[in-house]
Amino acid sequence: MQSRKACHPVVSSRNLFGLSDDGDKEGRKKRMRGMIEYTTILHANYNDDDAEIGANYSGDDEIVCAFSDDEVANEEASDCGTDSDDEELYENPNITGNDSDSGSDEDEEIVEDDESINSIDEDRVDCDDNEEVPIDDLLENFKEYEANSAYFETFEKKHRVAVELCRLLRKTKASLGTYDLMMQWHFWATGKLRAGQPVSTHPDYVSRGKLFKMLRRRYNYDQEKWTIVKEITLPFSRARARIVLNDAQAAMQSLLTDPRIRDEDYLFFDNDPFCPPPDDLDYIGDLNTGRSYKETYKALIKNPSKEVLLPIVLYADGAVTGQFSALSVTAVQFTLGIFTRVARDKEHMWRTLGYIPSYSKVVSRGKGFFKQTGHADAPMAYQNTYLENEGDVLEDVTQVPAQDLHAMLDVILKGFIELQNGGFYWDLQYNGILYKNVKFVPFVIFFKADTEEAEKLCGSYNTHTDKVSQLCRYCECPTRESDNHLADFRLKTKGRIQRLVDRGDEAKLKELSQQYIENALYKVRMGQHSDQHIHGSCPMEMLHAILLGIFGYVRDMFFEQCGPNSQLAEEMNSLATEAGMRLARQSERDMPKTKFAGGITRGKLQAKEHTGILLCILAVLCSTSGGKLLRDRKKNNFAEVGLLEDWIRLVETLLEWEEWLKLPIMERNHVQYRLKYKHQYLMYLIRIVGKRKAGMGLKLVKFHSILHMRHDILNFGVPMEYDTGSNESGHKKTKRAAKLTQKREETFDEQVDIRLQEEHLLEMAKEEMNGRELWNYRFGHEFPEEAIPVVEQPCLGGAKYQAYKDVNGNNRIRLLSRPNKKERPGKIESQLVEFLIGLNEKVSEYMGSVTLRTLHKRGGLKFRASPCFMKEIWRDWVMVNWGEHGEEACKIYGFVDLTQIPQNCSINYGGIPELGPGIYAIVENSYKYVGEDNDENHHLFIPIQKEVHEMRDNMVSKMQFYLADVEAFTSPLVVIPDMGGNANDYFLLRSRQEWSDRFIKYLEAPIREFPMEVID
Ligand SMILES: [Zn+2]
Repeated sequence: MQSRKACHPVVSSRNLFGLSDDGDKEGRKKRMRGMIEYTTILHANYNDDDAEIGANYSGDDEIVCAFSDDEVANEEASDCGTDSDDEELYENPNITGNDSDSGSDEDEEIVEDDESINSIDEDRVDCDDNEEVPIDDLLENFKEYEANSAYFETFEKKHRVAVELCRLLRKTKASLGTYDLMMQWHFWATGKLRAGQPVSTHPDYVSRGKLFKMLRRRYNYDQEKWTIVKEITLPFSRARARIVLNDAQAAMQSLLTDPRIRDEDYLFFDNDPFCPPPDDLDYIGDLNTGRSYKETYKALIKNPSKEVLLPIVLYADGAVTGQFSALSVTAVQFTLGIFTRVARDKEHMWRTLGYIPSYSKVVSRGKGFFKQTGHADAPMAYQNTYLENEGDVLEDVTQVPAQDLHAMLDVILKGFIELQNGGFYWDLQYNGILYKNVKFVPFVIFFKADTEEAEKLCGSYNTHTDKVSQLCRYCECPTRESDNHLADFRLKTKGRIQRLVDRGDEAKLKELSQQYIENALYKVRMGQHSDQHIHGSCPMEMLHAILLGIFGYVRDMFFEQCGPNSQLAEEMNSLATEAGMRLARQSERDMPKTKFAGGITRGKLQAKEHTGILLCILAVLCSTSGGKLLRDRKKNNFAEVGLLEDWIRLVETLLEWEEWLKLPIMERNHVQYRLKYKHQYLMYLIRIVGKRKAGMGLKLVKFHSILHMRHDILNFGVPMEYDTGSNESGHKKTKRAAKLTQKREETFDEQVDIRLQEEHLLEMAKEEMNGRELWNYRFGHEFPEEAIPVVEQPCLGGAKYQAYKDVNGNNRIRLLSRPNKKERPGKIESQLVEFLIGLNEKVSEYMGSVTLRTLHKRGGLKFRASPCFMKEIWRDWVMVNWGEHGEEACKIYGFVDLTQIPQNCSINYGGIPELGPGIYAIVENSYKYVGEDNDENHHLFIPIQKEVHEMRDNMVSKMQFYLADVEAFTSPLVVIPDMGGNANDYFLLRSRQEWSDRFIKYLEAPIREFPMEVID
């Protein structure tokens, strides 16, 4: 395959690693103001941290491979091969319609120009025309690899043993040296090794080094294309940075051919890779339903029968590596938008382009200065890192620290940009069809990043104080207008900012809160739907940062209005904490975390915890005692008429909003036409109800950003598409790898990258053992039929209680099962015992004594009814279908198995006139509260009242039990007592589905129902 590379030099290493044509040198230097590049392309020494077994790499392994000769040939040819081979490319029969393609590519560029308004010729930073030729190396390389697979040595048992051992050791995070020890032990234990004989002398022994070398060949992981180290001097700090890269083409090929990818992972309209985005989509879902995809398709796809638009998602986020937090890894990764969101959430759907070195890893600035002093010792001291043309670029030093990051990104993205600009040919295997010579037309649809990273990528200021003229990275809204829910300002565009940078207009850039830097991302092709480029292509993490940031403010505003450190605030806190405890023990398990032992006012909480906190606050606001406390306290805001109701409305709307934003599918109409005003209204509500005074009030990025949310959704699909929360899985891989390194600071990124590759190679070996050989990609892979999940039969479980009358005729109950940590005997209601004894008497004719069970499982749900579970009472509620009486919420006290009683035995008990065989729950019933306000659509918490036999002094003196057939259970519920209300008053929380439904109702409601007054 390497010899092949010499024949197809479109992306020769020369281009990949930053040495473009001499003629362009000056221009490029200008573009990357102050960036000094050196040319040391160091191949990471694979042996580096395997020194103890390094001998296996360098020398005489006997792996017979078709490549070995080529390899040598390639080395000889690599210096001179490039020029003459340019011509060969055009003769290559595999490039069909080459001329017309390159012609249309030029057209594309013009289109792009038109779109970046006001910037006809000034901001051209894209690559030369001759680079716009589609690349076929990727495909040719794979075909060659495929052909060579015939010569691969057989995957022997000893290799399988070695692969399995490596996989095992990785799972246990054992250190690398463990491998040899385990091997030694294995051979000794199986009697294959004499005492004292070194394991390496045994013919069945495969060293780690040999194994991975073999796997690298076997799975086309050419060492020259992975873990490439490039050193540059950073333009601001003058520090040397070691940047670890992977070849973009190799990474792309590896991703496209990954044998773990299945047909259902692909995202094509009508299951046809060539199907254009439909014009009449009435919904927004995955990223290909957004405007960015659609408009870019229109702009770039000239030949729909041969070209496939390839959206690429970039991602950069630092993974702190646990106990070695001083060492962090920031990987720039990518995946493809031809995969579904569900697929993109999987680890193996991402490949790494390179690593941004963390600052601690950048060699200190001092060394650079030492060199500049011209001391005689300096050149020798740094002869390995300082290369020839350093002197002539020193004047390019920049004063802007942010340029350093973009200089590094420029290196990391170089190969990727070439691949992207030209596009590439590929044979796409999908649904059993091999689509040959598909021309992929890539573009970066968005860059997934958290707010801080996104601002760095956009080159906007990272500070958010009132000293900054603009806070928003999307638009030119001045800081003083950031709390204005009606703000509507011009969007920031690449064209405008590039023009200012070219002109060196630092003052104007400062006005836009933009750094005076050459943005490395500007060279990347992005969505053609607008001229915003990167400034509109780092979608907000609505679910993670923005929304939950706002939730946090709302909580703070609530306690601020109670009076900070006031008694009221304290009471609210303890009521909310109590409500949270009740909310946590429910049959509906899909609930946000609400249990906050330390209260809800203080403490740094995780983003996802804020939903639960608002829910606790809402429960208090709705409760009788919460409302009374808030209204009655003199000298507080809540005495204001209507404020409490406004607060309830605000908190409810926020909760419903979040639930709606989490939907996988949205109606396009809602986002396009209805959301603008309703978002403004929501902001208005936060302003007038919350009245934030602390800090900058509501002049906050997160608050202002609400105005831009609908654009992101329209452009890129539903928020889940770009919420970084879902990408955490990608990090685990990096974290795992980091733990297996030797934590040597200088080479940390390299070590991590190599560990990741090893993990990948082992996975490929596993796939091969399962019959999915990488080289058979074009023939398609078979997957075993998924086992149909066993449907769990409804059953009873938990503790067993038995009620009986003792010799004196007193009612007794005893725990039959063994008391354990979970379930221990405590107190139980006498009336329940009486009810059980009554039941016993009725059925005694047909069966033995009835036992009361505390757990019922059905359809994946658990219903618990225990007087003492984990030291506390836990009695779930459930919706029961009472037939002609409708559905009512019921509180469960236990379960009884009456399957042994016969049909038609005419037992009348527990409200059932003719008891039949079956499993029953003992329940109390409830009714929707009929108060003066009969509008049951009003709130998230619906007031209900439990049916009781007798009330005395506002306390339940006699309960009313019913038997409910478990087959009549319809849904799990969340029910909490109304604190301070009647003894039998409760609140039923609407289901999450209803929350988003209610937000949709809000969207659809006419604007006139939500008037906004002018705020001074
Ligand atoms: Zn804005």
